Parts: sequence; C-alpha cells; structure tokens
Amino acid sequence: MYQPNLEAMPQEERRALQERRFGELLDRLRSLDSEYWREKVRGVDSLESAPFTTKSELRDAYPFGTLAVPLERTVRVHASSGTRGKPLIVAYTSADIELFANVTARALVCAGAEPSDVLHVAYGYGLFTGGLGFHYGGERLGATVVPASGGNPGLQVALMADVGANGLACTPSFALLLAERAAADGLLDRIPLRYGVHGAEPWSEALREKLEAAWGIDACDVYGLSEVIGPGVAAECREGKGALHVFDDHFYPEIVDPETGEALGAGERGELVLTTLTKEAFPVLRYRTGDVTSFVGEPCSCGRTHPRIARFSGRVDDMLVVRGINVFPSEIEAVVLADPACGGQYAIVVDRRPVLPELEVHVEAEQPPDGLERRLHDRLCLRVQVVTHEPGSLPRTETGKAKRLFERIDDAPPW
Ligand SMILES: [Zn+2]
Repeated sequence: MYQPNLEAMPQEERRALQERRFGELLDRLRSLDSEYWREKVRGVDSLESAPFTTKSELRDAYPFGTLAVPLERTVRVHASSGTRGKPLIVAYTSADIELFANVTARALVCAGAEPSDVLHVAYGYGLFTGGLGFHYGGERLGATVVPASGGNPGLQVALMADVGANGLACTPSFALLLAERAAADGLLDRIPLRYGVHGAEPWSEALREKLEAAWGIDACDVYGLSEVIGPGVAAECREGKGALHVFDDHFYPEIVDPETGEALGAGERGELVLTTLTKEAFPVLRYRTGDVTSFVGEPCSCGRTHPRIARFSGRVDDMLVVRGINVFPSEIEAVVLADPACGGQYAIVVDRRPVLPELEVHVEAEQPPDGLERRLHDRLCLRVQVVTHEPGSLPRTETGKAKRLFERIDDAPPW
C-alpha cells in the first residue's frame, strides 16, 4: 500500500473522517460568494440531503461557474474529452494536484508498482487527465517515469525495451496494440513488464486474459473521470481482481437507480454517484457519473478497507438500444474476446439502413469463428451478424479511447 494508514483505516474511523470532511466542505461552500454554490447547498444538512449534480449542469456553468476558489489560486486546468458537445474545464489548486498524485500513486501500487520501477506512461498527455495524472503519481511514488504519451507504437515498444519498462499505464486497447507490436518486432523478451494499469474505457475479463498472457503481467483496472479528479478515483488491486477499491476518504461513492435516483444495496446494479470530500478548486456534490456498476460486499484479501465496486458494465448513456433491446458494448466484447479464434480487435456496427436496425459485429480471424453468432445471440437476446476480417485489417486507435462503435447509414464503409 502507498498510504497504509489511510488505505487500511478501520471503517468506523473512516466514516468519522468522511463526516468531518463533508461538514468542512459544506461550511466552505456556504461561505463562497458564488451563485452556483449558494443555490446548490441551500437546505443541505447531510450528504444524502444534497441534490444530484449532472454533467449538463457543469457544462452550463462553463468555463468557471462552479469554481470554489479564486482562479489565481489554481495551478492547472484539464478538460474532459468532449466526445459529446462542448468540453468541460476542470481546475486544480496545488493541494488538488497533491491529492491527484497521491491517489494515482495508490492505484499504481494496487497493481504492484514499486519506487524502483520504470513506469511507461502511454496515456495521452495534454488536456486529458490520464497522462499527467499517472505521470505525477509515478513520480510521487519515486518511479522513473517515461512520458511516452499516445501514438507511434513502434517507437514506444523500442523505448520500453531500451529503458526497461516494469509498469505500463495506458488504455487497455492500446496495451494490446503495443503487445502485438512488441511481439511482431521481437521485443517481448527484452521488456521486463510486471503490471499494467488500464482505464479510460470499459474492458472485459477476456481482454484482461489476453493482456496478461501477451505481456506476462498483472493487468489491473483503474477508474476516474476529470469531473471528479481524473484517474485514481478507484483502482483494482492485483490480489482482488474483478472489483475496484474506491478511495473513499476523498471520493464518497453511492450507487443509485438511474431512473428514480434511489440508493441501491450491495450487488444491485445502478449508476455510480460521487462526492469529492477534499477537493478545493472543482468540488462536486453527488455527481451522476453515468457509469454502471454495483457494490461488492466481501472484504478484499489485500487488507485495504476501501469499499469495492464491480468492474463497469458500460455507461447509462452508451447503452445501445437495438430493436427495443438494451445492449451494452462491454457484453459484446466479453463474448468476442472469449472466442479463441478471434483477435483482440473488433468493431460494432449498427446498420441503420433497414427500417429496423441490424447489429453487426466485425471480428478479426483466419476463418469465420464457429458458433459466435449463436453465442452473441444467447448473451444479448438479439440477432447479430458476424463479419470476419483478416487479422490486422480492422481500424486501430493509436491515440485516446478506442473507437469500436460505428453506425452505417449508407453503402459506404462505416469507418
Ligand atoms: Zn484489494
């Protein structure tokens, strides 16, 4: 553990800490000369009595309407990826940057990082929080950080071999692409990789198996979002893969029914809601993340006492509705990657030319995989057409989040 006194704190003690911190936050927000915060905390006396915060509300306050410190006190801004409309600007004080470094360092240690490591960071640097977030976390830990950023896989794997990367922080799809490249260039034996920390897109257990086998590593999930801080809100430890510890001394998690907003119990799947207890510049109260998960009841063998959430099933608003049936792209990925005949790359195409849309799943394989259409049908309760491509021929994403979802509206190829 990076901060064992905080990460293994008895739960009673942490509950008291959370209450104290929430009280301090509320007092601070009340004292601000801010229209947004005056309205937001009116009548609030406990976390549960606070109203939810939505992304569109934050967008309406663009660029600095929710800022809770004078702009002069901030030292950095990032922006959300802006895949839907205007980006969102988030700001940090130096204390926020310190917090950000601590929680990303915790996430790295969860996956097996040590201060003596070389950490290869292949998340994008820039407005996106992934690159700089892990960069500061790695430095905080004392690792030697290689700020590779995205793109140029050939150069990256050569660098990983020459510098001797022990850890890899990047999206899971890019980690797979780097593994393919390292294998093709005959470099796998020269790269002493032990672990990977992979987030920014949902990924399946099947992809984990592929990554762990290809690199010979522990591949761990990490979760975060720029509205809350960036990566380091929650992380999977290598002892308890399958669920992520939420660092709830800083980020208080709730899971609610996305329709009614009511709190759900352990094991019930709903929308993750987060409150920042300690952030200065850009706090959020009960932020609706849009990410779907559930609380996992059992304690973890690693000794961390942070509550755990299941790996994400997708996003409330990414859910596809095809012929009236809800489809999470992560479920398609799970079926495709569990098929040994298929490579790691795939694409989902919603064909909107017919009156009723059709779902196509494009895979890479030497020959059409046996029974894949049936298994997809069983999982999704929906007819699916599988289209097989030669290995290496589907589009690959070298920078940012992998694009796997396409729409076909005319006879042109969807990508
Ligand atoms: Zn654990």
